[in-house]
Amino acid sequence: LERTLSMIKPDAVGKQLIGTILQRFEQAGFTVVAAKLMQLTREQAEGFYAEHEGRDFYEPLIEFMTSGPTMALVLQGEDIIPAYRELIGKTDPTQAAAGTIRADFAESTRLNAVHGSDSPESAAREIAYFFVDDEIC
Ligand code: ATP
Repeated sequence: LERTLSMIKPDAVGKQLIGTILQRFEQAGFTVVAAKLMQLTREQAEGFYAEHEGRDFYEPLIEFMTSGPTMALVLQGEDIIPAYRELIGKTDPTQAAAGTIRADFAESTRLNAVHGSDSPESAAREIAYFFVDDEIC
């Protein structure tokens, strides 16, 4: 079994979509093994997205990600990293397949409802960024 770091971003939390999105995750067969609601500090958001520093979308991304609460989750399942990315759809919701979380709930490429790790290496880094071992069931 594989794990991924999921975030329900501030746009989706603000639209009362936590329950709806968690239902999509559970219906897909993913198990929630850790969860935390928090408002990211600028330092936390900058560290999380450090790979994008200097890109034109970086500063607005940091502002968005610190604008309200985010739910961070560790999800577990078989081949979950690709399966989860398929469930959420492409970063740009106009490119996301019908029925994906981003097609249904994202407003834009920035306000795109959810995050998911893109590889086992980033999943390990991102899970450790938000959770210590004894917070993961
Ligand atoms: P995530 O990492 O959140 O799952 P991703 O892997 O699809 O998204 P990345 O390229 O890692 O996308 O970008 C991280 C986040 O930065 C995106 O989810 C989005 O919120 C924002 N972002 C990326 N590219 C753009 C862009 N061109 N314009 C605005 N926001 C962007």
